[in-house]
Amino acid sequence: MQHVLDVRDLAVSFFTYAGEVQAVRGVSWYLDSHETIAIVGESGCGKSVTIQTVMGLLQSPPGRVKAGSVLFDGREMLGLPARELRQMQGNRMSMIFQDPLSYLNPTMRVGEQIAESYILHNHVSRAEARQKVLDMMRLISFPEPERNMYVYPHQLSGGQRQRIMVAMALICGPEVLFADEPTTALDVTIQAQIIELMNELKEKVHTSIVLITHDLGVVANMAQRIYVMYAGQIVERGSARDIFYRPRHPYTWGLLASVPRLDQKQRRNFTFIPGTPPDLLSPPKGCAFAARCPYAMAACASFDPEEAAFEGDGHYARCFLYHKGAEAMLQKAQKERGIEA
Ligand code: SF4
Repeated sequence: MQHVLDVRDLAVSFFTYAGEVQAVRGVSWYLDSHETIAIVGESGCGKSVTIQTVMGLLQSPPGRVKAGSVLFDGREMLGLPARELRQMQGNRMSMIFQDPLSYLNPTMRVGEQIAESYILHNHVSRAEARQKVLDMMRLISFPEPERNMYVYPHQLSGGQRQRIMVAMALICGPEVLFADEPTTALDVTIQAQIIELMNELKEKVHTSIVLITHDLGVVANMAQRIYVMYAGQIVERGSARDIFYRPRHPYTWGLLASVPRLDQKQRRNFTFIPGTPPDLLSPPKGCAFAARCPYAMAACASFDPEEAAFEGDGHYARCFLYHKGAEAMLQKAQKERGIEA
């Protein structure tokens, strides 16, 4: 089956005065029609660079695609002429950014900003564009659209500005919507509203979503499949069920343990993953997580683990714990984490 998006072995580096920063190191993932996937990881793991590359927004120089392929509907996106790329951006794929206040133009009314890409891609009259803006504002349940389409971004709340961003991203009916940390700048109750809105709109406008976030809590109610990224690589992938109920990689365990939980009877201390990600100017030779992993073994520092496959819907993890000879360490990890073998 042909995927809507098919990213294969993508490698992206930034060439700086200090040297080559290997931001994305051989990443592969796909997105199917009407599906939501999530790419999850800490800041600097390469998730946003991956998406910028897929959308043709990678700043070059200093960025450069070193290897790989990005197929959109079977067509190669890397190296596409600028004119064709512009036709795709906003029209067939679009993006919601993290901080609407810095993305929205403070000197333009929000209605004009929503209409901008619709006019550009569809060559419609102002009256048609105005009607489309009103339709979009109603679709996102924006209060008093006839009046509010004439306000400026600073007159709206954070949640309302993010709704405007959603309307701007969806006005051309894109097949793929990228949402880069769409709820990070919002407080918790507004986050829930934006997630609900995106879930609703996905059905109404028939788009597929790639959600990028550091927060597994946000992913739980949205994504069907999850890719966990660390130091420019995908370290675990699987269905949302696999990742939440049968996680296999120590980094995923750490991410899940650091999600605050309201449903636990016992109070527990806030947990975090000790240490910091490796410097991608000189990525480690072996497993990139070895310096922070409580279960690291001798082989982990010297060799890069292959993916191990698990039962489930395409569930894989890159970790030596599942290789022959590591049974004792695996049992220790499972016992400590309360994981069934
Ligand atoms: Fe930890 Fe080794 Fe697995 Fe890396 S390969 S996550 S260091 S056990």
